[in-house]
Formats: sequence, C-alpha cells, structure tokens
Amino acid sequence: MDDLAQDLADFIVDSPTPYHAVAEAVRRLAAAGFTEQAESAPWSTEPGGRFLVRDGTFAAWYVPESAGPGSPLRIMAAHTDSPTLRIKPNPDVGVAGWRQVAVEVYGGALWNSWLDRDLGVAGRLALYDGSIALVDVARPLLRVPQLAIHLDRQVNQGLKLDAQQHLLPIWGLGAPVEGELVEFLAAEAGVAAAEVAAHDLVVYDLTPPARLGERFELLAAPRLDNLSSVHAGLHALLAAAEHATDVIPVLVGFDHEEIGSGSATGASGPLLENVLTALAGGHDARAAAFARSRCLSVDVTHAAHPNYLHLHEPTHRTLPNDGPALKVNANQRYATDAPGAAAWHRACRDAGVPTQVFVGRNTVPCGSTVGPLLATRLGIRTVDVGIPVLSMHSARELCGVDDPAHLAAAATAFLTDPI
Ligand code: ZN
Repeated sequence: MDDLAQDLADFIVDSPTPYHAVAEAVRRLAAAGFTEQAESAPWSTEPGGRFLVRDGTFAAWYVPESAGPGSPLRIMAAHTDSPTLRIKPNPDVGVAGWRQVAVEVYGGALWNSWLDRDLGVAGRLALYDGSIALVDVARPLLRVPQLAIHLDRQVNQGLKLDAQQHLLPIWGLGAPVEGELVEFLAAEAGVAAAEVAAHDLVVYDLTPPARLGERFELLAAPRLDNLSSVHAGLHALLAAAEHATDVIPVLVGFDHEEIGSGSATGASGPLLENVLTALAGGHDARAAAFARSRCLSVDVTHAAHPNYLHLHEPTHRTLPNDGPALKVNANQRYATDAPGAAAWHRACRDAGVPTQVFVGRNTVPCGSTVGPLLATRLGIRTVDVGIPVLSMHSARELCGVDDPAHLAAAATAFLTDPI
C-alpha cells in the first residue's frame, strides 16, 4: 500500500471516536516536538509547534521565527466525527431472552450499512472526580441483526428501517441487568464502575481497512469521512513546520460536523476564533491578520457513482486517484470563490498534484461542511476541497489509494503559501 494510505488505515483503526482521533493526533504532534497550550493557561507567543485540545476537537499550529502581530494565517479545517449509533445514557435493555443496547442515531448514517456487522464499542467515561477515561473494546461485542428474507419477501423492493425499533444491537443472551454495560466498560478501562458518572459511547465496525480492486488502487475503510482529511492535515502541518515561511500554519479538527456543528466544540462555536485571535496578536491586530489569511475546509466529496451516473453533473464528475477535488456551489453550500480557487490551484501546481472540480447537479442539492460556517464566523476567505469517495456515510466507505498523499502534499503547499 502507498505509505500514506497505510498510515491513514492505521490512523483510522486507532480512532474509533473523535476523542480517540484527537488523542492519536496529539500523540503524533507531541512525538514531533509540539507542546500543549492549555486553554486556561497564559498564551505562549514563543516560536514552535503547539496544540490545544477540548473534548473531540483539537487545534494545532506552528509559529515561525519570523511571525509577529498581524502575521497571515493559513488554516486547514476538517472534522473528527462520523455518522454512527450512539449509546443512550440508560443502555441496558432487552426482550424475549436477548440482551440489547439502546442507541440513538448520530448524524446521517446509511443505516442499512450497519446491519450484520461485528461491532465494537468505544468512547469516554466521565468519572465523579472530574477525570476522563477513554475506552475502546476492539472485539466483536454487538450486532444489529437483519431480518431473514423468509420473514419479509418484499425487502429487496426497498428496505424500511425504523430507527427506534430496528437498529437496536444485541450483545448477548439473557435478561438485561441495569448498569451491566457500564460495569463491563469500566472493567475494560481499568476504573471502578461506581466511579463512572456518565458516558459518551458509540458503536463501530471492526472490519479493518483493506486495499481493494484488481490493481489494489482503492482503499475500503470506515470513517474516511472525515479522518482522511484530519490525517492529511497532520502530515501537512508537520511538513509545513519543517519548511516554515512567514505565514502561520494552523490545523483544526472539529467534532459535531455530522450533526450541524452547533456546539461548544463544533465549527460554529468560538474555539477556533479564540485561537486565531491569539495567534494574530490579539484583537487589535486580528483584522489585518484575518484580511491576509485563508482557510482550506477539507471534507470528502462524492466520486461519480458508475451505477447512478444520472445523479452527477456530467462536466464536473470526480474520480478516485485523480486528486482532491475543489468543491464549488453557487449558493455557498461550499465557501469557494474564484480567488480562493486560484489559491488552491496554485497549491496543487506547486505540489505537482492533480486536482478536479466538483459541482452538483442543479436538481440534486449537495451537502455542506464546516467551510461556509467558518467563513461566516471569521470573515476569512475559505476554500472547500476534499478527496472523492463512494458510499459516503456508510459504515464502510471507499476512496483512491493515491489521494491521501495527493491531499497531504497540496495541503502542505497551501499551509506554507506566502502569496
Ligand atoms: Zn464530512
């Protein structure tokens, strides 16, 4: 496997939840010499690499020697969360001799893709003493079983799933016992169950990432949306720190994009604005800095699906391995404008990376991402891009094996662009 695609596969396996993705991201940054900037501590203006963590969101940046108040910022933004099934506060349910786990749908998941998969559980336990314990049970623990076709002969005419009734995973036989899931997870995390006050837990598919295709040119994996972008951003920021220019490169991975970004740690919250204001040298210097800054909003895009070509715009189709796509939408569902697009094309040209352009059909509304939200909040010119995938929001998505390296190289050029 291409080195970067293999590294992406490893990153995905290590990151079953946003909390784990953040932990793995800052582990990599710390290994490269970045140090933590606590939100509550005095702001460090020293040159060098820093990261800041809050829950499932992180920001990281590199201050070059030449930087000062008003220095331009080059920001790359992505998201750490993915559609999934989230475990409810009182999870222990069951009926007719089956023990089950109560779940809520998180984000716009393709529910059918979660059926008949071996599922693990991961997330965080919040203890009474204020501490957090991450937990990841990476063995087959749960399954949302399909109904046998003999009991619904019409199922292939169109599967209908009721989120309340049909998505409850089983996790064994017997009668449900109140508190047993938390007890089990506390033991896995090495904490006393009586000390667990609350939890943020999700289920996840355990099938490891794999190269696919006769020529191995595709990568099948969970959570490519949007860990592929977070991962490329980490490589880009570390490369930008190695080849620092006069601009300040910044990477941010937000939680809660899949549910609209409206949260304390989401892209609509104040966290990035606070970081950028401090990096710009405070409120007085920030208008000048922001005017010369640019943001690259990176999230996966739709590869043209060969079985549903009529849903794609014929002159703006994208294909895996043809490079990350520039995303354009007249109604600002993507924030890209012509000067921003030019900056992206310059980055790709400088990096020797192919790129393509995605535009949706007039009759098929496209999705959106953090780009327009950040542009609205910060007033910084923003460009939306992303690598093409099939099966977006499935438990298992598909991208090109060359595109992670393409994206990392183009993002590196963007994060160091002095123009
Ligand atoms: Zn996404």
